Amino acid sequence: MGARRNDARRCATGGQAPRRDTVLPGGAGAVRRASLAFVFGRRTPPPSLHRCCVCHDDSVVPVWWEEVDEQQWRMLLRCGRCETYRSVVVANDQAKAYDRDLQRGMDQIAASLERSDRERMAAALQVFVAALERDLIDAGDFAPR
Ligand SMILES: [Zn+2]
Repeated sequence: MGARRNDARRCATGGQAPRRDTVLPGGAGAVRRASLAFVFGRRTPPPSLHRCCVCHDDSVVPVWWEEVDEQQWRMLLRCGRCETYRSVVVANDQAKAYDRDLQRGMDQIAASLERSDRERMAAALQVFVAALERDLIDAGDFAPR
């Protein structure tokens, strides 16, 4: 059973890396432990923008965006496969790279669609020619009724 349309999910990380300068309760010792955990802890790289952090599919697209300042963009991203949403703030260069990746993906989809359409039309043409050669159809089949 697939996800329901209104069952929007959100990525737990929100797409943002934890801040390094977070002050923890417990003072300097806690900060030192947090730093060691940061250095030696198990890390998962932040997900790339086009990849879903839940299903790992590469069909994440922006559904809304705004300029935060001259350096950053805030985006709401949606996975086309599992419908998970995540909110991210990214730098200009990351936004530009994502835009290029999206355009490249759309170009691939358009090329694939055109190829598929040509194959479908070629198959229909072969069937039409075979039907004409076997006298299965004639002009009367196309007359208004
Ligand atoms: Zn997903």
